Amino acid sequence: MTTDTIIQTRGLTKRFGGFAAVNGVDLDVARHSLHALIGPNGAGKTTVFNLVSKFLAPSEGTITYNGQDITREKPAQVARRGMVRSFQISAIFPRMTVAENVRIALQRPTGFSFSFWRGEKVLTALEDRVDELLTSVGLIEWRNRTATELSYGRKRALEFATTLALDPELMLLDEPMAGLGQEDVHRISDLIRQIRPNRTILMVEHNLAVVADLADRITVLARGEVLAEGDYESIAANDAVIEAYIGG
Ligand code: ADP
Repeated sequence: MTTDTIIQTRGLTKRFGGFAAVNGVDLDVARHSLHALIGPNGAGKTTVFNLVSKFLAPSEGTITYNGQDITREKPAQVARRGMVRSFQISAIFPRMTVAENVRIALQRPTGFSFSFWRGEKVLTALEDRVDELLTSVGLIEWRNRTATELSYGRKRALEFATTLALDPELMLLDEPMAGLGQEDVHRISDLIRQIRPNRTILMVEHNLAVVADLADRITVLARGEVLAEGDYESIAANDAVIEAYIGG
């Protein structure tokens, strides 16, 4: 494999009883790309995400991260390597303020290691970083409100800020647009565009307009297998893909 591949799976398989939810999947995620995983319901997207982030152990196959075999590692180990799954790990504390939520994320062991530092300069640096993150996700005006006061779309933005606080090398975004109205979809799309430089994003997303807009590369899964891979134009013109979506 080339050093430009951050995640590589070979023959990735997960069986539940006798049923193969994921069956022999070879996936190559290029460094600094935004790679989307799409496919009809039940295609195996969530299971692939669970396997890559180590929430599930594969029945067969291998997973490498930056060329190192992580097939048998635990979620915490891959998190330390820089892989962060959004909307799972970054739970929001509803009664704390928006700023406090980000501050806590920054003080986590896998985040920016402010906890080892002392003194006023450090605290100022910490507050500056909190404000920088809140500005980047458009929540600076909300910094002293409790998280529970935020709209659903703004809570998503706060989750983004807490994920970014961990400074991930690879972000796994699990349906970032799920449940969002059009305005929030635009807001989160802009946010993803903004955080893309120097980062790799692997995203499961149902909204194909968003996938067309953001993804460099797309893997289409159907019945646990890779049906097609390429850019949006090639995927959209692929008869097997059209069939899988229409045929369900
Ligand atoms: P997708 O995310 O593409 O909708 P999933 O990965 O959630 O697909 O599921 C793929 C298939 O595996 C589905 O048929 C689902 O019912 C099955 N499946 C997922 N998780 C389990 C499980 N824990 N036990 C049994 N079957 C499962």
